[in-house]
This record gives sequence, structure tokens and C-alpha cells, in this order.
Amino acid sequence: MIGFGDDISTRCSSAGCSADATWRVNWRNPRIHTPDRVKVWLACDAHRTTLSEYLLTRGFPVVVTALDQPVELVPDRA
Ligand SMILES: [Zn+2]
Repeated sequence: MIGFGDDISTRCSSAGCSADATWRVNWRNPRIHTPDRVKVWLACDAHRTTLSEYLLTRGFPVVVTALDQPVELVPDRA
């Protein structure tokens, strides 16, 4: 199960992956979240793309940043 972490773990959020995360996949479900509501998955190098594409294929706006670069909001996709 993928975590919806507000926890402080720095482990990759991808199911079954125990690698240390180096990326933040910041995302939002526009149907239920306002733009300033930011959900975060953490990702290792190998899962940065798979996690963000998982969200993008569902039509969710996604902003990927470095692990130490939190974002204030995830804007709607253009
Ligand atoms: Zn991973």
C-alpha cells in the first residue's frame, strides 16, 4: 500500500520499495483538494517517474521536487 505520508519517514513510497527517497512527488486530487492542499509521496530515483506518472494518468496535478524542497501548493495543470 502506498503511504499518504505526513510522516517524517524518508523511505520511498512505492509499494515494496525500501530505498531511501531523494524526491518529493507533490500532488493533489483536484476533485477533493483545494490548490493549497498538498499530498506528498516520497520517491527514490527509480520510482520518481513511475509514481508521478501514476498520478498524471489519473489527471492529478503533480510537482516533483528535491526531498528538501517542500512546495506550498500544487497548481492546476495547464
Ligand atoms: Zn523506490
